[in-house]
Amino acid sequence: MAGTQDLSNKEQDSTPQGPKNFIQDIIKDDLQQGKRQGVVTRFPPEPNGFLHIGHLKSIVLNFGLAEKFEGRCHLRFDDTNPVAEDQKYIDAIQQDIKWLGFDWGKHLHFASDYFDDLYNFAVQLIRQGQAFVDDCDGDEIRKMRGALTEPGQNSPYRDRSPEENLDLFERMKNGEFEEGSKVLRAKIDMSSPNMNLRDPLLYRIRKVAHHRTGDKWCIYPLYDFTHGLSDMLEEVTHSICTLEFEDHRPLYEWILQELKTPNEPQQIEFARLGLDYTVMSKRVFLQLVEENLVSGWDDPRMPTIRGMRRRGYTPESMRKFAESVGVTKKNSVISLGTLEHFVREDLDQTCARAMAVLDPIKVTLENFADDKIQMVKGPVHPKDESRGEREIPLTKTLYIDRDDFMEDPPKKYFRLKPDGKVRLRYGYVIHCHEVIKDSDGKVVELKCTYDDRTLGGVTPEGEKKVKGIIHWVSADKGIPATVRVYDRLFNDPNPMGKDKDFRDSLNPESLVMRENAFLEPSLASAKPGDRFQFERLGFFIVDQESTDDAVVINRTITLKDTWAKK
Ligand code: ATP
Ligand code: MG
Repeated sequence: MAGTQDLSNKEQDSTPQGPKNFIQDIIKDDLQQGKRQGVVTRFPPEPNGFLHIGHLKSIVLNFGLAEKFEGRCHLRFDDTNPVAEDQKYIDAIQQDIKWLGFDWGKHLHFASDYFDDLYNFAVQLIRQGQAFVDDCDGDEIRKMRGALTEPGQNSPYRDRSPEENLDLFERMKNGEFEEGSKVLRAKIDMSSPNMNLRDPLLYRIRKVAHHRTGDKWCIYPLYDFTHGLSDMLEEVTHSICTLEFEDHRPLYEWILQELKTPNEPQQIEFARLGLDYTVMSKRVFLQLVEENLVSGWDDPRMPTIRGMRRRGYTPESMRKFAESVGVTKKNSVISLGTLEHFVREDLDQTCARAMAVLDPIKVTLENFADDKIQMVKGPVHPKDESRGEREIPLTKTLYIDRDDFMEDPPKKYFRLKPDGKVRLRYGYVIHCHEVIKDSDGKVVELKCTYDDRTLGGVTPEGEKKVKGIIHWVSADKGIPATVRVYDRLFNDPNPMGKDKDFRDSLNPESLVMRENAFLEPSLASAKPGDRFQFERLGFFIVDQESTDDAVVINRTITLKDTWAKK
């Protein structure tokens, strides 16, 4: 199989039964012990960017658990920060999740749907004497928070009465105060060793319109206050998030307990996905796009779901990859080669074969009749006869790839050379007897003859078998195309390492344009999104910008892992 790689990879968290997934084990126990009656999970993106390969792990985990335990998974947009959020991200995130093959059914939710409920919960905390309006500004609050080794100080406004707080909070809502002049804080413990419990902020004033609630609100709830209550309102059972929220769990639980909510979701943290040769930061993505280092968010080299989709990765292979990496509490970096392995494995099984010449040299078969078109046959898929055969026209003038000819080759070079022989795949053995160059010394044409006894792999008796077999395309019948030969965006395994600028790690060969490529005519009916294996070259996809008049093809990946040995 193309590109098979040893998956006994040490970095995989797996057991003989498969990849580790400690959350699945917790859920199984919860159900067995009757602690939970069913399973409800959620994927909670903030609509402030496009989904990337890191999100894939969370998507596959949340939707996968719901599927496995016959529960449901909600898609909830965590849209509490109107400044950074945008409808275009909401649309794109939904498209990407659907493309990956997951469905939230009728459970599309927005944290902003709960703004009324959240306001009422805040009022309840105030009434219970557990939240207060603070007039300190951001700097003062920060200074009074203390440090890990040093307790914080109570705000001078901490002992306002519930009545005063209720009045002030309502006036905050009504827009009577300036941004930054007041916040609502929980009243917990300024000397807690957990900084998140030192009277955390619950609401702040933001006089900006929200993409869903318009001008209705000028106070917005903070993430920690919003998240657990949204989970609770949706009756989520297991609220799965990444490790950096571990220290927020006591606050998550405090809010639910103090409000005596009718149900209590359980927050469970897991290690985020890290990949080598990849950056996973929205900030860096934005820089890549804005500095024109890539063509956009869906540039096929971007680690975004849309980029990988355009590159030709399949949803099946991406899901398999995400399942294979396991779910643990230990941060690790997975090799990009593992993802690529799953992509190759899937494409190898599904892609039709074809021939394409990316960097052509003209070959003239001098003893081939001028207007003769000979159809030769090749399998659509070598491992699946039921897919039939393709017919490939062979004509007097052909193209072969520049890589397959060497004027001054080393020993054991089995492709074409002056006075040498090579076999045209599915065709004849040809013999090169003249090399024609332009005034710069560049080879522009090879004059050859073909041996009509050799069609379809035949070696005439008494003659030596020709070892080299190369691909080719008829010059008259081939389809002109532009091929974008993509490779890894970074050539450093850790582009974000200490003291490094990711720009220094950009791979200068991550995109090589081949504007004079020729494709086998069986591609004439190919549409954007169709995938092929170009024999000997790799896997390719017809780009979304491709038209009948200007065919554009992207290389998804090489046949073998060329990075493993680097
Ligand atoms: P930001 O830091 O800007 O909020 P984010 O990557 O956390 O970015 P979200 O939209 O908040 O973006 O993420 C949605 C969900 O995806 C969260 O539950 C988050 O934990 C999860 N997630 C994000 N990155 C990864 C990652 N690398 N591995 C696993 N899960 C991730
Ligand atoms: Mg986040």
